[in-house]
Amino acid sequence: MTKIDRKIDTSPKVSDEVKCTTCYMCACRCGIKVHLKDGAIRYIEGNRDHPVNRGVLCAKGAAGIMQHYSPARLSKPLKRVGPRGEAAFEEIEWEEALTIATDWLGGIRRTDPRKLAFFTGRDQSQALTGWWASQFGTPNYAAHGGFCSVNMAAAGLYTIGGSFWEFGEPDWDRSRYLMMFGVAEDHDSNPIKIGLSKIKANGAKLVSVNPVQTGYSAIADEWIGITPGADGLFVLALVHELLRAGRVDVDYLLRYTNAPWLVIDDPKGPEDGLFARDEDGHPLVWDRHKVAPRPASDVEAAPALKDAVTLPDGRRARPVFHLLAERYLDARYAPDTVAEACGISADTIRRLAAELAHAAFEEEVVVDVPWTDWAGRHHDRMIGRPVSMHAMRGISAHSNGFHTCRAIHLLQILLGSIDSPGGFRYKPPFPRPAPPAVKPAGRLDQVAPSSPLPGPPLGFPTGPEDLLVDEDGSPLRIDKAFSWEAPLSIHGMMHLVITDAWKGDPYPVDTLFMYMANMAWNSAMNTSGTIDMLTDKDPETGEYRIPRIIYADAYYSEMVAYADLVLPDTTYLERWDCISLLDRPICSAEGPADAIRQPVVQPDRDVRPFQEVLLDLGARLGLPAMVKEDGTPRYPGGYPDYIVNHERQPGVGSLAGWRGEDGDKRGRGAPNPEQLERYKENGCFWREELAPELRYFKHANRAYLTYAAERGFISHAAPITLQLYSEVLQRFRLAAQGHGAHQPPAQHRERVATYFDPLPIWYPPFEDQENDEQRYPLHAVTQRPMAMYHSWGSQNAWLRQIHGDNRLYIPRAVAEAHDLSDDDWAWLESRNGRIRAQVRIQQGLNPKTLWTWNAIGKRAGAWHLSADAGEAKTGFLLNHLIDELLPERESGYRYASADPVTGQAAWYDLRVRIEKASPVDAGESLPQFPPLPPLPGSQETPEVLRYGAAFHETTGDGGDGRKRK
Ligand code: SF4
Repeated sequence: MTKIDRKIDTSPKVSDEVKCTTCYMCACRCGIKVHLKDGAIRYIEGNRDHPVNRGVLCAKGAAGIMQHYSPARLSKPLKRVGPRGEAAFEEIEWEEALTIATDWLGGIRRTDPRKLAFFTGRDQSQALTGWWASQFGTPNYAAHGGFCSVNMAAAGLYTIGGSFWEFGEPDWDRSRYLMMFGVAEDHDSNPIKIGLSKIKANGAKLVSVNPVQTGYSAIADEWIGITPGADGLFVLALVHELLRAGRVDVDYLLRYTNAPWLVIDDPKGPEDGLFARDEDGHPLVWDRHKVAPRPASDVEAAPALKDAVTLPDGRRARPVFHLLAERYLDARYAPDTVAEACGISADTIRRLAAELAHAAFEEEVVVDVPWTDWAGRHHDRMIGRPVSMHAMRGISAHSNGFHTCRAIHLLQILLGSIDSPGGFRYKPPFPRPAPPAVKPAGRLDQVAPSSPLPGPPLGFPTGPEDLLVDEDGSPLRIDKAFSWEAPLSIHGMMHLVITDAWKGDPYPVDTLFMYMANMAWNSAMNTSGTIDMLTDKDPETGEYRIPRIIYADAYYSEMVAYADLVLPDTTYLERWDCISLLDRPICSAEGPADAIRQPVVQPDRDVRPFQEVLLDLGARLGLPAMVKEDGTPRYPGGYPDYIVNHERQPGVGSLAGWRGEDGDKRGRGAPNPEQLERYKENGCFWREELAPELRYFKHANRAYLTYAAERGFISHAAPITLQLYSEVLQRFRLAAQGHGAHQPPAQHRERVATYFDPLPIWYPPFEDQENDEQRYPLHAVTQRPMAMYHSWGSQNAWLRQIHGDNRLYIPRAVAEAHDLSDDDWAWLESRNGRIRAQVRIQQGLNPKTLWTWNAIGKRAGAWHLSADAGEAKTGFLLNHLIDELLPERESGYRYASADPVTGQAAWYDLRVRIEKASPVDAGESLPQFPPLPPLPGSQETPEVLRYGAAFHETTGDGGDGRKRK
């Protein structure tokens, strides 16, 4: 045998310096350690101490190196010098760029601040951007939630005071049964993978309800290939079965929910459907022993859950649970009735309901920790119903998603599993009151030249009086958020901004200011139409209908070509950031946490962190909270200065750790000038572990509520009652029925009355109602893959090797019916257009559903992709087929293709037909767009983008893969 004497160094020293920071390759925000050698990034590893990922790093996180060294990075501010859309720019200095922006924005602010529409994409600094918009004085602000997952947020926050994912998680350690709905691999990533591995290791059952069997569905113990948009019906059938079998947690319902609250039954009366209340406004229950109404907070009362009663004023009332049981025991929710629409057999539905009940009541888990509830009742131990649920965009992105998500919470509540051991658990700072107390600002009396708004542009309406509409009931925001079209659009309606700005409906805007939002491509519904709107000119004036567009991004995305002014951002490894409790937190159910990013390398281009630019612009514009009394910048140290010293309320700032002058305070405390240093010393994060007695039943746990109030998570330590029945929805419905001072215009009445049902309902998605089933018999959906999150993934040289183009996945029966084989080309048509794509047959797929990976298809030239890149040549976008508006009503009005309660974009309601493309057509996806040219000053893109080879051949190549000998 030949002896190999070459010594292999199995653990080579790859770095001379290691810096901690936070990953930004998806929204999970894992802790990472970045290894540097000679100042160049050599390697990224997971931070084993970090509470989010415990050292786990995914493909995206590791590929952050290629994101950082991407040749598609912008390198200098750009000013448009040719027609919009042709990417004809000249490089300018930052001073000129900021002067232009200040001139444009200053003029707007001095006259009508609403003429600025400021919208951001998947950025992670919404606490800053929302505050900036409020200081500017425009209500026209939102981030991407309106087209992402606002149905999840709104349904959760109005029902349980928390929501899936960022505000809550399954009890991974104690759950015996996890049911997931519509969860793709990007939402979320490492934390859910760690959690699922625990579920599997513990022998718990994982059921995935999803039309597509990929990713997490592929490792599920049972995959339920539901028909898209039917989830709510399926869930209510489960509720039907549980009620029919009497398998609900009555004690839990009585103690922690509004199940016993009395609902006024006074048809046509102005308070019909509202809660019966005492003189002080407290909801009432019916005491079975005293045979009289008592305040719901009276712990001595024995509340009834059924039967109508007569109130002292003579009106009739019924407990919420009575209404609920009456509705869902109806035969229209019986498994046999719903089976066909759901694509799930009645026997399967019945079996799943029985399994849920078995896990909840026969596999009860007990945590031997005493606790005291809000009413002072002592409990020797924590008794749990180990059934948990998780849902994401597959539920959210339908026009019935709000009610579907509420139905899922209703199911969890009936089982008694919300924040009980083994169930769905809140992540602090949640729960918050359902809904939180903040109202959206932007009423007519709240917007004035040169003045900030009196509050944030986004909030939680609790009745018609909170809407942002004028005396006629017409919208006050450019995206029509918080109007009668979508009253609870708590994340705004970014998907309508370009359409409405182009139409000048309800009024024209002057400047569209966007950050990290690829609205000229994969973030737009109706992409081709959106491109036309961005470039359309008024024939009379010759001016663009959207007069000015400012765009900030780190990369040459498709949207860059449509900007008049481009502000280049840094990569995530070049800047400070805070992952704040004021924003989208990274906490776990075991305790609050927040984190920072620190620059691990300095930019080698003339770029600036967008957050710094925003503060700079704020100071130049004289926004009150961004300047001192003498007019100089309040945060001269830029974003890190703001992170440390900005206080949203006295003692509450961006970061919760190491507050107070000596750094010994948590949650509340004076700014600490050493705060960022403490974070850096601690691996760039802060975490506080809850004491055992605080960890469950947080909505009703006296010790937890007291703690949350002390930390500033909630204003006071009051219990958060789970809202099976939503009085907020009923208030809107009453207005639509002609009651109260604020009523919808005639054209919206029927819609509001129908969809503002105080108990969860199911209805077919609007596109199902609008489209001819014969003509468009199939559903089409998308998902993001495990290896990519932001649209920027498709230009990442490593990640492109995993997903270099996309196919249209089709069920075998559809393939056979249309004579399609793997890699054949097909036309896909919707009422909005036609695209050509290459197909692949998939076995694990709902028989009426087609799907593809979203945002893999790219425009040639953008992202520095060559004209023959797979992403551009064979990759495709389904977005061209998705109309952002529903067909015209008789009145001529076109509603958004969105949820009628929240305005959530209904991406997954798409109906299509498929036909085989003739071979002569094959070879290229359609539509194609002219390649975008390189930007001035852009890097030369090497033929092969290779990282690290140069480290073996020479020293210090900067890590960008271009050899320098
Ligand atoms: S899961 Fe997301 S945040 Fe975590 S390492 Fe992967 S890409 Fe980064």
